[in-house]
Amino acid sequence: MLRDTFLEINLDNLEFNINLIRSKLNENVKICAVIKADAYGHGAISIAKKLIELDVEYLAVATLVEALELRDYFKSAKILIMGYTQDYNLKHVVNAGITQTIFSYEQGVILDGLSKEKEVISNVHIKYDTGFNRLGFKDNFESIEEILKISKLSNVHIEGMFSHFSLSDSGRDKVQFNKFAKVIELLKENNLNIDLTHISDSIASIRYPEYSLDMVRLGALIYGYQSTNDIQIPLKSVMTFKTKISHIKEISKGEHLGYDENWTADAKMKIATLPFGYADGYPRKTSEDTFVTIGGKKAKILGLLCMDQCMVDVTDVENIKVGDEVTIFSDGNNNTMDLNTLSRISGTNKNSLLCAMNRRTPKVYIETGKIIETKYYLLKGDPNEYQ
Ligand SMILES: *Cc1c(COP(=O)(O)O)cnc(C)c1O
Repeated sequence: MLRDTFLEINLDNLEFNINLIRSKLNENVKICAVIKADAYGHGAISIAKKLIELDVEYLAVATLVEALELRDYFKSAKILIMGYTQDYNLKHVVNAGITQTIFSYEQGVILDGLSKEKEVISNVHIKYDTGFNRLGFKDNFESIEEILKISKLSNVHIEGMFSHFSLSDSGRDKVQFNKFAKVIELLKENNLNIDLTHISDSIASIRYPEYSLDMVRLGALIYGYQSTNDIQIPLKSVMTFKTKISHIKEISKGEHLGYDENWTADAKMKIATLPFGYADGYPRKTSEDTFVTIGGKKAKILGLLCMDQCMVDVTDVENIKVGDEVTIFSDGNNNTMDLNTLSRISGTNKNSLLCAMNRRTPKVYIETGKIIETKYYLLKGDPNEYQ
């Protein structure tokens, strides 16, 4: 390895999660795997490759450039852009055969014109706003008319229609679902049958299996993360964040450590320095309860986290040496820090921690128990050249 701090991405666990989720969903419900934000920090291309092998029906991202990245690697995968694409960029959507989310007749007309020029039929998903007030057609009669007009465009096909829950409480979510179900019904009465209706994300798919419709859009769940408020299903974390000890020293009572000297030893202590910091996506806000795991034991992070390094208390961890493996976070088993706890300590949520993982940190992909790939985002050539 060229860097001691790395993310271990376990594709066997991804497969386990997909199979488990499928067993919980009603038989005909399709999975749209949400792999925006570089697959929540897991690496979109490697994750997409595995998901395609697992016959996941749809891949979804938030933005055009993410979709184009995927299209470069996967020529025939179904790819949905869930966000807005500017009118002047819709030509790229058509050229790459990507499914665009739209929420106006004008967007439909532009896509229709571009598709005619290219002699293709472009799939779109209609975004319908049932109360989130982010994107989507407003819930009213004019919108129904516009959607029906889009359905008459010759080179645009309304393949799907979706909405998104605010997940404030089950009563409010039901109001949203009912609005959505009603518009689906109204469109049917007007001879518009849409193949892929979808409203549920990870949390909703577990909380309300009865709302799954034709497809569910799953992000957090496939990576092994679930809301703590839901019926727990035994998912496996796909990501483990690891590093290795770079320095070990003893300090005596009264010595300080780190920026601002804001931490003082109250006894003789053994300290290990670790080569990761907030530049690697670890939250800078730590507490008394923030720890890493070395040799199966918890080691508290001391003082202020630096940009690239931090110091931990290894006074009670015996027989350690430079180069020993450290688990920064994992699934909470074997004394490891889990992402729920870490996000609570740092005042954020799991997804934001996952998304903070970045290019400096190489990823090691595991499949059938073996390392299949080590990805260095900062190196152009073959990393084996450095062996
Ligand atoms: C990100 C996103 C999802 C996935 O959310 P999870 O909570 O991670 O499952 C689903 N739908 C839309 C529209 C999204 O933007």
